Formats: sequence, C-alpha cells, structure tokens
Amino acid sequence: MIAVGYIVGFTLCMATILFVFLMIAIFFHMQRTSAYHRQQPAGTVPVHSINNFHPGIDEATLRQYPKLLYAEAKLHQGNSTSSCCSICLADYNDTDVLRLLPDCSHIFHLKCVDSWLRLHATCPVCRNSPLPEEMASVEVTS
Ligand SMILES: [Zn+2]
Ligand SMILES: [Zn+2]
Repeated sequence: MIAVGYIVGFTLCMATILFVFLMIAIFFHMQRTSAYHRQQPAGTVPVHSINNFHPGIDEATLRQYPKLLYAEAKLHQGNSTSSCCSICLADYNDTDVLRLLPDCSHIFHLKCVDSWLRLHATCPVCRNSPLPEEMASVEVTS
C-alpha cells in the first residue's frame, strides 16, 4: 500500500508541475497576443509608419555619418551653418560635437540627432531620409 500511495503522490506531483507549465505557456502566449494587438489597433495606422517604414537607423549606419566640431562646420559651410540645434534649441559652442546628415547637410548635436535617428529614419528638419536609396527600399534583413 505504501508503494501505491507513493506512485499516486508522484503522479499527482507531476500533473501539478505540468499544469503549472501549461498555465505559464498560456500566460506568455496571451501576453504576446495582446502586445501584438496593442501595436496594431484595428482600423488605425500607427502615426510613425505613415512617413516611413523604418523604425530607425541602426547603430552601425549612424556611426558612418560624418561628425565634426561646430568650429569645423562653420569653416566648411560658412554662413549657411545654423547657429543652434533644431532638436534641443540650444546654441552651438565651438567645441560641441555635431552630426552632419549626408543627404541634406543639416547638422545637429551628435547626442540629440543620434537618439532621434534611432527612432526615426528621417532628418528632423526636412524629413529626408538620410538612408541611401537602395537601403531605404530594401526591407531590413534579419
Ligand atoms: Zn541639440
Ligand atoms: Zn535635413
């Protein structure tokens, strides 16, 4: 009788563990499903997907964009260089590190525009995409 009781207890124990695993699996599945529905509400288009299909620019591409000191930017671009950052609206100092967007030549603080470009693949001022054409038309490979 002791052996039978042991086997029954063991079976119950295993059943409980399986049940808990099942509940955890269902829980995560429901969380994923609801997260999916939150991102894509029926009948509405997420605002940021209207202008571009890219959520942002990846770190490797960002690092390829030219960066320069404001003092250098003034030398290269003369009077056409804006004197303040359009993102944080602070005036540039000669020692500020700036990022030059390759297509439109707009400049911003490196730290300001980098955090912007990680979220939006467009210039904050003119909305041009600084991504090269062939990259912009090809879906992200992953
Ligand atoms: Zn700034
Ligand atoms: Zn621009």
